[in-house]
Amino acid sequence: MSKDYYDILIAGGGMIGTSLALALAPLGLRVAVVEAIPRKAAAQPSFDDRSTALSRSTQRMFEAMGLWPDIVAASTPISSIHVSDQGRFGFSHIDAEEQGVEALGYVVINRVLGAVLQDALDDLESVDVICPARIVDIELAPERASAVVEHADGERQTLSCGLLVAADGANSAVRDMMGITAQKSHYGQRAVIGNLLPEKDIDNMAYERFTKQGPLAMLPVADGRAGFVWTVSEQDADRVMALDDDAFLAELQHEFGYRLGEFSRVGKRASYPLVLSRALRLTSTRSVLIGNSAHGLHPVSAQGFNLGMRDVAAIVDCIAEPGAGTDTEPGSRAMLERYARWRQSDQKKLVRFTDSLVKLFGSESRPLRTLRNIGMLGFDLIPGVRSVFAKHTMGLAGKLPRLSRGVPIK
Ligand SMILES: Cc1cc2nc3c(=O)[nH]c(=O)nc-3n(C[C@H](O)[C@H](O)[C@H](O)COP(=O)(O)OP(=O)(O)OC[C@H]3O[C@@H](n4cnc5c(N)ncnc54)[C@H](O)[C@@H]3O)c2cc1C
Repeated sequence: MSKDYYDILIAGGGMIGTSLALALAPLGLRVAVVEAIPRKAAAQPSFDDRSTALSRSTQRMFEAMGLWPDIVAASTPISSIHVSDQGRFGFSHIDAEEQGVEALGYVVINRVLGAVLQDALDDLESVDVICPARIVDIELAPERASAVVEHADGERQTLSCGLLVAADGANSAVRDMMGITAQKSHYGQRAVIGNLLPEKDIDNMAYERFTKQGPLAMLPVADGRAGFVWTVSEQDADRVMALDDDAFLAELQHEFGYRLGEFSRVGKRASYPLVLSRALRLTSTRSVLIGNSAHGLHPVSAQGFNLGMRDVAAIVDCIAEPGAGTDTEPGSRAMLERYARWRQSDQKKLVRFTDSLVKLFGSESRPLRTLRNIGMLGFDLIPGVRSVFAKHTMGLAGKLPRLSRGVPIK
């Protein structure tokens, strides 16, 4: 094979593309990752200042990949989740102990996770990282795919591969080049993120509060601080972002209440437009979509990255599962068909789950408000309901690939 040939070429070295390259390492395949923006650059859109709640299935994956000791050392465990609806007294509570796990999830800052993943990638000889460079054109043929890579100085090179993986995010250019359409609907909301110091100890509790403007999450992070994801309406977002720190904290406090005492010392803020996007297909000849290029979710239930990690684990199984009974060659038709069949149901369920949560709690219509009250009650009173919800948020529902069950690949 020529040196410009790879078994797997990954477009996008963000949270999902990098994780896929690491997950594939034990298989001894030649892998390249093409990433447009260096990890430490301020403009890196994946490894930024957001905090991500890692679900139990993602934790198990990183354990099986041998990366968990470094990740857990930089993370904060969630021991319980408190769900409330602004203007109502009722609230619900999910507890790690009740679910029989040591933590419901772990919160890590994306930049910090990026450093751990990058260090691990640097140690791998089987993976070439081509950065800064972007994929600007592709050609898909039954025997192999090829991609034109443009480097930062404008120089171009063509690489060919058995399987081309589009992990280039929700606005995936490679998805367009594959001829796959994504359905997009704008929520008319933006997520404002940052962190602050609460007066009371957050005590490893994650808060999800549904307000008139949209959901507001408060997550435990390092040094007693809380990371917030505050959904505001698109019309109001510029005003909220422009507030000085004191005025910003006062508005956030008004939305959240005083469960954690008074807020102070807010850090740098950033905002993200919220769009639901769903690719109409997951594969094309010799190519596949994973992570946000396949599905971009509202952050309400902190599931986007975790869902993408299950895509990663399923790809690995479709290539490497012994006794799969089908052709497992990367990019073969059988391998791609098996992947698409497997992933469609989990992706559909989670898209529906997060979208319904946003719509159910975002509406002021009378029937929906009634349903919501029953919903909150049902949540607490009907045995089993909380467990099913918890299973979804921990990423443990449905048929799980080996890595998501914590089984090492080799
Ligand atoms: C406010 C907010 C909070 C969130 N919180 C959570 C959470 O708590 N838990 C959770 O599971 N998920 C969460 N998510 C979702 C999660 O951040 C995403 O699902 C995840 O980042 C998707 O990763 P990705 O690698 O697929 O895409 P991206 O993060 O978008 O990365 C794509 C990468 O591809 C690169 N790229 C783009 N085009 C090209 C090209 N042509 N050639 C080469 N490279 C290219 C980009 O530079 C980038 O590095 C949250 C999202 C938001 C907005």
